[in-house]
Amino acid sequence: MMAYDKLIFELSKPGKTGYRLPSLDVEGKDLSEYIPEELLATDELDFPEVSEVDVIRHFTNLSMKNYGLDRGFYPLGSCTMKYNPKINEDVASLEGFTNLHPYQKDEDVQGTLEALYNVGEALSEISGMDFMTLQPAAGAHGEITGVMLIKAYHEHNGQNQRNKIIVPDAAHGTNPATAAMAGYEIIEIKSKPNGMVDIDALKAVVGDDTAGLMLTNPNTLGIYDENIKDITSIIHDAGGLVYYDGANMNAILGHSRPGDMGFDIVHYNVHKTFSTPHGGGGPGAGPVGVKSFLKPFLPKPVVEKKDDGTYYLDFDVPYTLGKMKAFVGHVAILLRTYSYILTMGKDGLRDASTMAVLNANYLAQSLKENYNLPLDRLYKHEFVLAGIKDDTHTITTLDVAKRILDKGFHAPTVYFPLIVPEALMIEPTESEPKDTLDDFIKALNEIAEEAKTNPELLKTAPHDTPVRRPDETKAAKDLVLKYEGEINA
Ligand SMILES: *Cc1c(COP(=O)(O)O)cnc(C)c1O
Repeated sequence: MMAYDKLIFELSKPGKTGYRLPSLDVEGKDLSEYIPEELLATDELDFPEVSEVDVIRHFTNLSMKNYGLDRGFYPLGSCTMKYNPKINEDVASLEGFTNLHPYQKDEDVQGTLEALYNVGEALSEISGMDFMTLQPAAGAHGEITGVMLIKAYHEHNGQNQRNKIIVPDAAHGTNPATAAMAGYEIIEIKSKPNGMVDIDALKAVVGDDTAGLMLTNPNTLGIYDENIKDITSIIHDAGGLVYYDGANMNAILGHSRPGDMGFDIVHYNVHKTFSTPHGGGGPGAGPVGVKSFLKPFLPKPVVEKKDDGTYYLDFDVPYTLGKMKAFVGHVAILLRTYSYILTMGKDGLRDASTMAVLNANYLAQSLKENYNLPLDRLYKHEFVLAGIKDDTHTITTLDVAKRILDKGFHAPTVYFPLIVPEALMIEPTESEPKDTLDDFIKALNEIAEEAKTNPELLKTAPHDTPVRRPDETKAAKDLVLKYEGEINA
């Protein structure tokens, strides 16, 4: 074991300390006289005894066992792990924002309300919608808000028989899960071989019982549905509403808008497209945009602007869903969004999408020689490979993904979407330079060569990481969060 691999408990030596408390400045009394007897510890505590440098090194070494975007390429499909400018962190940390209390009066927090109002306006403009609620805390939370809006709208119009939501099979898994949670029956329609919604199959299932359709666009294959206008018209003609899963808005920013395609509701994942490092489970924000006829149903409060230019929280929303989140949502995430939009500007946002799409297609075309590309076509921000080309049929996507770790990259998303066998889902994002993409292509081609010459190398990978092949179910369900070795005392 290298010295820097030692855990804090193994560095412990009796008598070492990393702190010095000031001497007691209350005369004549022992500390124990101030603390009730029953609150005093009776046993020696099992704490490691270490110096200040030991502590610093322990935590720094632990952090370096982790892999993050600030260390290297992280092409996780569907999740958009991209570089997020640090200036957005600075903006969200400004004391004028962080020292506020959510119960302060509107007139005391005009700056924050203005920022929230403006970010709502910007997100409406970018998506082609009329109004936003900023409350939802994540993408899936935005989805449930959107589906509850669909339900509230139909109930308001006496259309309670509309109990089915249509979801194409290339949708993100949260779409059918959300509709089911809202009490809907899910009608799944299969994609055509070209990855798009089967229009005939769609026409066959719509009717008086259609509440709506949820479309992930680009879908989980990274494909923009060319029949999108037909899809929204078919649902509208049947009296349903159309929901756009805009989690991956980085594919279309400044190029096209869900509102113009006919969608009634759209959610964003601002922790994917609009800054905020995500991973580790949050926090995020999933603002939901609606066309004006749905505004009366939005969660309350909504941020509004008066004629005199001041801002206020409006609790008077006629058919409101109520609250989806405490107060106004995750303000600090929305501030990062605002900062990102302002620093990028209209042209910058459009360029980001252009580069995200270019990078994905460059990788897809560069990897198809050695990896199966089921659909050789134009992709948006991501694409899905169906495993490595391997005549022996012994090398799995898991082997490839593990070997990628040895090459110094984070692996792509694997075995998702389910409709592609041995799926490797790759999203390079706009923030990677061509040099990095070329290094990644080289690494994947080396792996393809190793698969032929030394398959054992792949089967036993990874070789260079702190953890190798954990039992993933056990690792998630049976966490060991405590040091279980001997304390060196
Ligand atoms: C990430 C994602 C979601 C879910 O977003 P969360 O913030 O993780 O809840 C939904 N749809 C699509 C297409 C996504 O990529």
